[in-house]
Parts: sequence; structure tokens; C-alpha cells
Amino acid sequence: MLYYLHSCFTERSPMTKFQLFVFALLSLLLCSLAVPVRAQAGIQLVSNEGSLSFPESATFRAEFQAGANITLVVLEYGVDQLTCGTVVAKSFPQFTPAADVQVEWTWEMRQSGSLPPGALLWWRWQVQDASGVQFTSPKQTILWLDDIHDWQAVTGGNINLHYYEGGQAFGQALHDAAAQALVRLSQDVGLRPEKPVDIYIYANTNDLRDAILYEPDWVGGQAFPGNNIVIIGVSADQLDWGKSTEAHELTHVLVGHLTFTCLGFIPTWLNEGLAMYGEGGPQSVELAQFDQAKAADQLLALRSLTGGFSEESDRANLSYTESYSVINFLIQTYGRDKMTALLAALRNGATTDEALQSVYGFDTDGLDDAWRTSISAAPRVGSSNPTPVPIPTQVPTIVPVGAAPVAPAAPTPRPTQVQATVTQVTITQAPGPAATSVPLTERLGISRDVVLGVEFGLVGCILTVLVIAVPVLVTTRRHHRRQK
Ligand SMILES: [Zn+2]
Repeated sequence: MLYYLHSCFTERSPMTKFQLFVFALLSLLLCSLAVPVRAQAGIQLVSNEGSLSFPESATFRAEFQAGANITLVVLEYGVDQLTCGTVVAKSFPQFTPAADVQVEWTWEMRQSGSLPPGALLWWRWQVQDASGVQFTSPKQTILWLDDIHDWQAVTGGNINLHYYEGGQAFGQALHDAAAQALVRLSQDVGLRPEKPVDIYIYANTNDLRDAILYEPDWVGGQAFPGNNIVIIGVSADQLDWGKSTEAHELTHVLVGHLTFTCLGFIPTWLNEGLAMYGEGGPQSVELAQFDQAKAADQLLALRSLTGGFSEESDRANLSYTESYSVINFLIQTYGRDKMTALLAALRNGATTDEALQSVYGFDTDGLDDAWRTSISAAPRVGSSNPTPVPIPTQVPTIVPVGAAPVAPAAPTPRPTQVQATVTQVTITQAPGPAATSVPLTERLGISRDVVLGVEFGLVGCILTVLVIAVPVLVTTRRHHRRQK
């Protein structure tokens, strides 16, 4: 071949120059076409969709095409919420390696723990083919909400209130009450939302329970601080109850946000006392019961209200009213800024006693004593107090999606040719910056797809040159021979 090329350049016939010109032109044209076509090759996202079967599951489907067999597809998914650290849930849909694959995976809420209506789900795909080309799809989101109800919204004042029954006046009244509660919480306690809170009003508790899979025995309203969401079942004839309940749950969202930490712990008397304060205080019946307990020297030790409240209703009611009374004492006596400082200290990891001591100069027992003095109750009896129950039960919570490994799901229906059953769901730390050496192309910001495309383009270019060069040069040589 080199000989042919050499002879072409050394022999001086007009025909040879013309043929060389044609050859060079064709090569240039084909090479210029080959490089960009191959540079765009890689893994293509053909389709990508999420669909809901509320409240049971969410299904994610996608189709990919690549120049080589696709060998790995990973689904990363989660829900927009406050979490401790960067945790990403992953699943590995099964499929037969091919240049064109369809995959599907279903997120079963009965296995992961149900999400609050209105939560924002997200997902993305990581794909790799046999030649090592990798692809990450853009992050997609879908709103986790039923389409059974005709949801209406009233917005403004950092409250998005969603309802579907009761009419516009009903929705407006609940929205305005929530917005007023926010103003009160801001003025008295220093609690403000970082972004609008979504409140979903179900028409009754049955509808509410249908929207969440697990069934707490007392459910009426529920706060999800990590998601910035409140859900309540309120019928049209329960407007007053609805207003106070949404204010209560709203307070839990704000307190949960302000004190969110992976280190700290907020005592139940503080959380529920603030929520009672947020809703405007106990009802007259509850206040009467509290006065009765005070007169009979049956008030509960504050330290016993650090964990879960009693299951027994009278004692639970007294726990709520007493918590409110303590919070009211702290705010009226020491003011808003100290309350904000107390919550900040808890967020920063201080124990309850440390936080109280640093802000007010007394611990839980000292607060108990000061509060009893302020309401003219009998002094605390140290040794006969019940011990705290170390389980938080009053602020409803669900298992965060990213917090625990999820069991393998049952096989799901799939399109033909796709073996899309779930084999494994793992929770892994999101990869941090690579500590190992980085390829030059990546440091230059050139993607692997482009590099491979250029490599393929060059190979194609060389082949083109050879394919054209051989007949052209052979013809030239033979022509020369005939001339000789
Ligand atoms: Zn509460």
C-alpha cells in the first residue's frame, strides 16, 4: 500500500493528480461526515415516564438505545424531603442485554412505608453499555397525589391549601385560619416557614385513611415536617375543629423544620406544648380537667412528658394541657427570642437539660418548679414521679424512604421482551468526588461519548481512505503500466 502511495506521489502524470484530487476530496467529505455522526452516538433515552397507582405504588418505565449492548440499568429514586446526609435509593431492573432495552420498576409503598399525599417523588436512570459508555437521565419528578378527588387550591400567605369538598368558602376559611396561625406563630414564637406549607384537606377521616396505607388508631390530622405537608380529614360541619387542628399540625411542621437535625431530640412536652399554643390553647373542657388535677395535686412531672404521652385518654389530655401551660409560662415570662434560642440549641445537638440551662438557667426539673410556682400548684415530688417513656409517639412520622433497606418487590407485569422484575434494592451513599486520578478527557470536560465517537470516526475515516485508495491507486498503477 505504501508502495502504491509512494508511486502515486512520485509519478508525474496529469491523470494521477486528478485522481488524487478526487480521492482527497472524497476522503475529506466522508471523514467530516463520519466524525460528528459517531460523536453523537452513545446511549439514547427513547422514552421515560412515571405513573402512579395511588396509594399503593409508583411505576417508572424507560427505553434506551445504544451502539453496543446495554449491560446495566440502575434506577435511582426518592422523595424530596429533609434527610440526614445524602442517601439515594437504588433498584436494578432486570433485562436481557441488547442495543435496545425497555425497563420498568415499581416502588411498592407497603414495603417502603407510605408517603404523605402531595409528596414530590423523583427518579433518574443510570445506564451503561458493553463498550463502557455511560448515561444518566435528567432527574424527573411526579406529584404523589390521588386523581380520584377534584383537588382545588387556595394559595397565599405561605399556605397552599388543597381541598375537594365543602366549596370555595370552606377552603378559603381553612386557608385564612392557617395563614393567621402562621402570623401568630411568627410573632409569639419566632417560627416562620422557609417555603409555603401544603395543607391537604380530606373530606373525612375515611378518605384520609384511604390516602395513607398504615392506620394509626387516632388519626385525624398529621404533620410531615420533612415534606412540609399537613393532611387533615375535615368535614364541612367541623370547620372550627379543622381550623384548630391545622394550626396544631402546622406548628409541628415549623418546629420540625426549625429543629431538624440528625443529632438532636425535641422533648414531647415542648413539641406538643408549642402545637397547642399554635392552635390557640386547650378547649374549656380540657382546662377544667387541668384545674381539677392541679387542685388534687395530680399534675404530671414535666420530666415524665419528655417521651411519649400516655395511651390513656384522660392522662393524654392532661399531658397536652400541661405541656401547653408550661410553654405559655415560658413565652409569657421569658419572651419569644428565648424560645427561638431554645429550639436552636436543640437543633445544634444539646440535650433538653443543656439547652434549657443555657437559655433559661434551669434544667427540666428547675422549669417544672418555676412553672408550678407560677400557677400556684403544689411543689413537685421528686422520687414519686413516673419515669419518662423514651418513645416519641405524638408527632406522627413515617419511615423515610431513604432510611432503610427495602425488601425485594414481587414481579410486576411487564411489556414483552423485558424481564423487569426487581431483584435488589439497595441504599447506598451517593458517590462523592472521586479520590483516584481523573482521565485527561474528563479534566478537559470532554465526555466519554464524544471521545468514543471521535475514535470511531477516525477508524471509519482510515477505512474510508483505504477503501477508496486501493481501487484508485490500483487503477492508476495499471494505467501507468499500460502507458509504459
Ligand atoms: Zn401534636
